[in-house]
Amino acid sequence: MNILVLGSGGREHALCWKLAQSASIADAGGTLYAAPGNPGIAACATLTALDAADHAAVVAFCREQAIGLVVIGPEAPLVDGLGDSLRAAGVPVFGPSQAAAQLEGSKAFTKRLCERANIPTARYVEVTNYAQGIAALADFTAPYVIKADGLAAGKGVTIAEYNDAARHALLDIFGDAADTPANAGARAVIEEFMHGEEASFFALTDGKTVVPFGSAQDHKRVGDGDTGPNTGGMGAYSPARVLTDDLAAEAMERIVLPTVRQMAADGIPYSGVLYAGLMLTAEGVKLVEYNARFGDPECQVLMPRFAGDLADVMLACANGTLADLPAPRFCEDTALAVVMAAKGYPGTPEKGGAIDLFGLADDVMVFQAGTALSDGQLVANGGRVLAVTATGSDTKAARDAAYAAIDAIDFPSGFCRRDIGWREIEREQA
Ligand code: ATP
Repeated sequence: MNILVLGSGGREHALCWKLAQSASIADAGGTLYAAPGNPGIAACATLTALDAADHAAVVAFCREQAIGLVVIGPEAPLVDGLGDSLRAAGVPVFGPSQAAAQLEGSKAFTKRLCERANIPTARYVEVTNYAQGIAALADFTAPYVIKADGLAAGKGVTIAEYNDAARHALLDIFGDAADTPANAGARAVIEEFMHGEEASFFALTDGKTVVPFGSAQDHKRVGDGDTGPNTGGMGAYSPARVLTDDLAAEAMERIVLPTVRQMAADGIPYSGVLYAGLMLTAEGVKLVEYNARFGDPECQVLMPRFAGDLADVMLACANGTLADLPAPRFCEDTALAVVMAAKGYPGTPEKGGAIDLFGLADDVMVFQAGTALSDGQLVANGGRVLAVTATGSDTKAARDAAYAAIDAIDFPSGFCRRDIGWREIEREQA
């Protein structure tokens, strides 16, 4: 079977690395394509210059190359309905429809669904103009959580300690006038602040059958000790043992299964990976948000631990045959990824810095994201550049192996956090 992966980040590199090991590619002579990919992905897939926004071009490519499965990596093409265009053309797709991707694309959609399906999450109010927002703030206490409704690449959420900052966040979303034409369609969710530790829980589904697909914890802040501005993610590890088997079962029973059932009942079945951002609160596990795709860098720690054939499970999600497969298995080891970013990130990253990947141990994986080749030299070409992933018998062993590899990499214009996995390592050493 020929497979096409769409995307160009570390997540897609990890997916391609794993898919290249699938029997349909490695043994059955299938070809793995990636569009647009990156220099790291070129080592395991054939790159092609497709634009995911050009649905007709993607469909035409799939027909020409007899693609049997398309894997959509990032959220934007999902929310843009690429999955629907491909399905309409008879191409199996791993990833939800445009309507189902609202679970990530619209926070208000997800909150309403949680309300109807009685899924534990923060109490909320949905507002469509500034005046409503100001009035709604009175129902909450600090810290205030204000979320713009649509996709915002991680920048749509404000946690405000003071009412003033909450008002500013509303101003950013709506402008100062209520119901001006310019603000038509703007929407925000104001919600109660949940206290607890966060963990990511993944499930695969074909719309009917749902299977757990591992857990992870990421590090969003740019600086050690979880300081500084938010980023796309500076590192992650899997499994997140703070999400015990009991808590994972609770997340499955009370959050993920009711979501998939409600979506099916509403006539918008969800298929693909459902990534639940969870808060482990004193009152139990609550949903923070859904993502309609794998996390980045969470994917870079899930793939090295997944013990099955990725193409098989993804195709089963696409074709509605997940019930026919055995439950996914993961190795017991911990995988830990440290992201190397270009200096300046998450502001303007310094591009063009040379990277030399020297002396890496066999079991260390370097998943590339913002990289390019310049006269044969690998250089930085974006904010997050590499995710260096290692495995070990516990989090500390995985972390030590990942940082040993980082110290061997020559990337003078890059930087990384030095404390990825700190929460788990503290627990291991307690
Ligand atoms: P990202 O793209 O970074 O995943 P997002 O923009 O989709 O984020 P959320 O995940 O909903 O938005 O929120 C971002 C972060 O804000 C969460 O990871 C969490 O740390 C914090 N957060 C969101 N909602 C709450 C809440 N109700 N209580 C406490 N913290 C929250």
